[in-house]
Amino acid sequence: MSAEGRLLVCATPIGNLGDVTLRVLDALREADAVAAEDTRVTRKLLSRYDIHTPLERYDDNTAAERTPRLVARVAAGETIALVSDAGTPGISDPGAALIRACLDSGLDVEVLPGASAIIAALVASGLPTHAFYFGGFLPRKSAQRKRLLEGLASLDATLLFYESARRVVATLEDVAETLPGRFVAVARELTKMHEEVVRGPVAEVAKAFSEREVKGEVVLAIGPSLAGEVTEPDVEAIAERIDALVVGGSSMKDAVRQVASDTGLPRNLVYDIAHERRTDRPSR
Ligand code: SAM
Repeated sequence: MSAEGRLLVCATPIGNLGDVTLRVLDALREADAVAAEDTRVTRKLLSRYDIHTPLERYDDNTAAERTPRLVARVAAGETIALVSDAGTPGISDPGAALIRACLDSGLDVEVLPGASAIIAALVASGLPTHAFYFGGFLPRKSAQRKRLLEGLASLDATLLFYESARRVVATLEDVAETLPGRFVAVARELTKMHEEVVRGPVAEVAKAFSEREVKGEVVLAIGPSLAGEVTEPDVEAIAERIDALVVGGSSMKDAVRQVASDTGLPRNLVYDIAHERRTDRPSR
């Protein structure tokens, strides 16, 4: 065995098994072992390309125990290929601990790039790509989600999150409330048979998904706030619209929420406009 062991971090397809690079196939074929998040999933890929390298499970449950063993194998001169179920290892997937441990031991780590749902979704979204923020999976609880989204409101970047199909509607509703008027894209089942990308203002996309069943794997992309969106609001028009809603029976809170959603302005700005108008009025 040569003394030049390596960890090869291999990106694998996110759906379509054709989306694997020639270099990754060579690596999987020539490695001494493939460390795989789920050996059953990876076996399908290996079978498709007639690869018979031994597979070893490496996931969050086994990482603590297997990391030192795999590091020892690389140190002894073996080549270990690391894969996750889909896409790039380490990106919301197991792998980072093994990569870190190999680097800490002074061992060679090479990345063989390829598919990642986040990059495919960003590009397919049609939203700005000059800067983007990837937040992994959003919190499951609405209050935490909204807090996180509010904290990102001023970022001049497209925001990207992995999301479960089950929570897409609730999450879009939270986005509509915290980042009203933003353009979003829901990228679902990319590279698979039922691939779709639904794009539009967040309130419309939320409504569209609330009227149907959502299945499969989803990435949510949220565009940055548009230039000028918050700098020159038509104060008179906003105040009149709030007045009309309140006269029509809405509470001030609901009226502010409605106008924020209709105009795409942040809720606190609409609230301030409404509040200033009320304090401007002569008391009766
Ligand atoms: N490491 C992977 C990568 O680089 O793409 C991501 C793994 S993460 C555990 C899985 C999440 O990625 C899914 O819940 C979904 O949000 C997203 N995802 C994976 N495949 C996808 C696909 N084909 N279409 C849309 N989203 C996908």
